[in-house]
Amino acid sequence: MSFRDWAHRAADWSADYLERVRSFPVRAQTRPGAIHAALPASPPEAGEPMDAIFADLDRLILPGMTHWQHPRFFAYFPANASPPSVVAEYVTAAMAAQCMLWQTSPAATELEARMMDWLRQMIALPEGFAGVIQDSATSATFAAILTAREKALGGTANAHGLAGGPTLRVYASAQTHSSVDKAVRMAGIGGDNLVKVPTSGSAWGIDVAALERALVEDRAAGRLPCAVVACLGGTSIGACDDIAAVAEVARRHGLYLHVDAAWAGAAMICPEFRHLMRGAEEADSVVFNPHKWLFTNFDCTAHFVRDPAALTGALGLRPAYLRTLGRGEGEVAGVTDYNEWSVPLGRRFRALKLWFVIRSYGVEALRGKIRNHVAWSRELAERLAADPDFEIVTPPVLSLFSFRAVPARLRGAKPAEIDAFNEALLTRVNDDGRIYLTQTVHEGRFVIRFQAGQTETTREDVMMAGDVLRELATEFAATGFR
Ligand code: PLP
Repeated sequence: MSFRDWAHRAADWSADYLERVRSFPVRAQTRPGAIHAALPASPPEAGEPMDAIFADLDRLILPGMTHWQHPRFFAYFPANASPPSVVAEYVTAAMAAQCMLWQTSPAATELEARMMDWLRQMIALPEGFAGVIQDSATSATFAAILTAREKALGGTANAHGLAGGPTLRVYASAQTHSSVDKAVRMAGIGGDNLVKVPTSGSAWGIDVAALERALVEDRAAGRLPCAVVACLGGTSIGACDDIAAVAEVARRHGLYLHVDAAWAGAAMICPEFRHLMRGAEEADSVVFNPHKWLFTNFDCTAHFVRDPAALTGALGLRPAYLRTLGRGEGEVAGVTDYNEWSVPLGRRFRALKLWFVIRSYGVEALRGKIRNHVAWSRELAERLAADPDFEIVTPPVLSLFSFRAVPARLRGAKPAEIDAFNEALLTRVNDDGRIYLTQTVHEGRFVIRFQAGQTETTREDVMMAGDVLRELATEFAATGFR
């Protein structure tokens, strides 16, 4: 069988898969270890026919997949894709270029620069931000912390390490993602030096007065504040900091400001949601993931920086074997070697899928999809709020809200008992397979999260989540729990 035949087969398989994805349970229903045990323990010495491999794909792998492109995937945050993105990923794989330097694929570098500027305009960040596509928000935040570290120490840590230097401090609210903790650890600053500032107010944003106090105390104790990470759409319940207020504090204290908008950033293509990012234009860097909510296959992280030289100063290295001959030491106009903007050297050609997605839909259609997700999610939250067996714990932030079931039997029960019911109910819901939701802990209590963001999700899918929850909560309260 030739590559052309396999490729057609893969295209047919993919189209069939997306046509029937609704018929699968959203979350994989396999037992741990079952797939591992079904796979041969050793590799084949002789090649096998592609037919056999495709057959095993259906038999062994497909049943063990959680279907992120299922329109009733309401768990975590989305990692949505779309037909133009899948097609672009396919042709990207065929070219299989490694795009670490401009000369290793000039088109990849120049398309990346152009796509990042399109995205900048789409989310209304001002001119003056330059962009790079990273593999993950975690990498972007790590790069930001490394940049901040070098800035605070006058560029000495890369050369001499941190030993004997001042204690660096980074600030973020308790609602920021664990990637900030990871970045601070990996940067050698130490997890204990990430100050988790309490939140306040109905948006669970960082308490700016508490941030200010923490900064003053740290300086008085001889520590060196270096960065603050603002949260735009926290993973747990969608917490949003008042970025303008954080930016004002950061400016006054000379701190590097990084904005983590990994999920919510995509919604900033809609002007009506941009009040949430007010102040982001003051940041040193901003990250958001088109691979979450902008219909672009994982992985694709948009990382905007105000001062690319500060980033490349922290991350860039030019060994002899990577020199572009004829380029010399200085920058040549129009030449960017994006590996100097990233932790890994090697780079996939990620810009192509953005180009396909943005051109094929147009920005207005992308806005329409996000607006629908937000509107339907709010509608579901209103429906659950009106149902005496449910209570909304945190109201929708864009398309994310959290809730708990409180069936009549449990009204007035101890919080721990209600939490245990909800935990067991969530397992029951996900075992059922029609919808998939995940949980968080909010103010010490177990809550169920709901978000809508898959590309093909319809209003009916979202409303069906309400029906399934009502049905299973009622049934479970009557028969299944304790
Ligand atoms: N920041 C936030 C707010 C997130 O929700 C996530 C992931 O869900 C991340 C960062 C990490 O994203 P990535 O998987 O791209 O590293």
